Amino acid sequence: MADRKPRVAVFDFTCCEGCQLTVLGIGEPLMELLDHVEVVAWREVMSERSDEFDIAIVEGAITRDCDAPRLRRIRERAKTLIALGSCATIGGPHVSANNFERAEMLDLVYGEHGRQFETGEVRPLSAEVHVDIPIHGCPIDANEFLDVMKHVLLGRPYRVPNEAVCHECKLNGYECVYDKGMICLGPVTRCGCNAICISRGHRCFGCRGLVDDPNLNAARDVLEEHGHTIEEVLGMFQIYAQRAPQVRKLVEAGRQPKRTKVAEPWRFGSSS
Ligand code: SF4
Ligand code: SF4
Ligand code: SF4
Repeated sequence: MADRKPRVAVFDFTCCEGCQLTVLGIGEPLMELLDHVEVVAWREVMSERSDEFDIAIVEGAITRDCDAPRLRRIRERAKTLIALGSCATIGGPHVSANNFERAEMLDLVYGEHGRQFETGEVRPLSAEVHVDIPIHGCPIDANEFLDVMKHVLLGRPYRVPNEAVCHECKLNGYECVYDKGMICLGPVTRCGCNAICISRGHRCFGCRGLVDDPNLNAARDVLEEHGHTIEEVLGMFQIYAQRAPQVRKLVEAGRQPKRTKVAEPWRFGSSS
């Protein structure tokens, strides 16, 4: 990429395009970034299009048979492939469709015309191709996008956040919502959003997916401590991660007989 500006192409699959809109809404820093790249394809903002690019930014989940070969062609051309947003990184809210029998779901949503829509199992980009950098979030965090792009353009490795949302919640000194009677997925959800939902008085519903190695025993302990069951928390996982292997482990851990409490508390920001 030394003699010319890196060429960037933006693509989308099944999604709401909210993450692209987040990028477009960045403003001045985006203009500065665009000084350092050449955008050669971006359906949402331009009609020109080139298949010659260095960096592919791909939003959306894979849901149809035709998606996979299209994604593989993008992968073959790109030196760097960035998955933009939780649809691309973990399947996004669309994965909840995997909980239903396909024909039944199409009938339910579209009625008599449902069967004309082609749709299959919802999966993230990484189910089909190698993803160099996932940018999690529904929608993404604009600052993280800029940070990722700087790393890519400078040729530096980017470390994907892999601590729990509780980590950022604690750093910000927010009151734990468990103490307000709410259930929160922050202890097992990947951080990087600066605990934005907690800052607004809400709970974390897991939009960035699970950390790689969630502390499941501790998660079970805090649920029990506040009188919640694993079944209650499963409902929240339905949006983004019910089929994740870690969630199955959490369920299994939650159904085991109670054992010695873990030494390291997971509940940060608690008043107790
Ligand atoms: S991750 Fe969320 S905001 Fe982004 S495209 Fe998917 S549904 Fe939309
Ligand atoms: S400290 Fe409490 S409110 Fe904050 S992310 Fe963790 S569980 Fe949620
Ligand atoms: S707090 Fe949770 S739900 Fe909210 S943006 Fe962060 S990861 Fe997503």
